Amino acid sequence: MPNKKKNKAWGEPRICYYCGQRADSIDHIIPQAMLRMLASLADIEITRHLLRNRALKVWACRECNSLLSDSLQESLRERKNYLKIRLLQKYHKLLAIPKWEDNEIEELGYTLRTHIEASIRAKEYIKKRLAW
Ligand SMILES: [Zn+2]
Repeated sequence: MPNKKKNKAWGEPRICYYCGQRADSIDHIIPQAMLRMLASLADIEITRHLLRNRALKVWACRECNSLLSDSLQESLRERKNYLKIRLLQKYHKLLAIPKWEDNEIEELGYTLRTHIEASIRAKEYIKKRLAW
């Protein structure tokens, strides 16, 4: 576990470091697979150096953690930028939904209105995560 005093990202409440939503998982900044590979290559010194000198974990929501997967970036800032690009790619259709006026929505039938309202809420949710 990272040192709680040194690493602000590792505090309570559990908020996703990347998008600001409730976190329910831990992102390994240096993928565990890479650490295992280094260890298997008997490069114990490098592995120890990484473990000693870098923040290895931050809180993350499941989706951010999944989108990051085993990717590796030079810094946490780069990792966050990479994740935001992945979110933009994943939700580009949702983010392209045009703005609806209230009177336009009221004129729709129940099914379409419900769908549009849910899409608008989802769009706002994603925009909030991207702005974090
Ligand atoms: Zn997240």
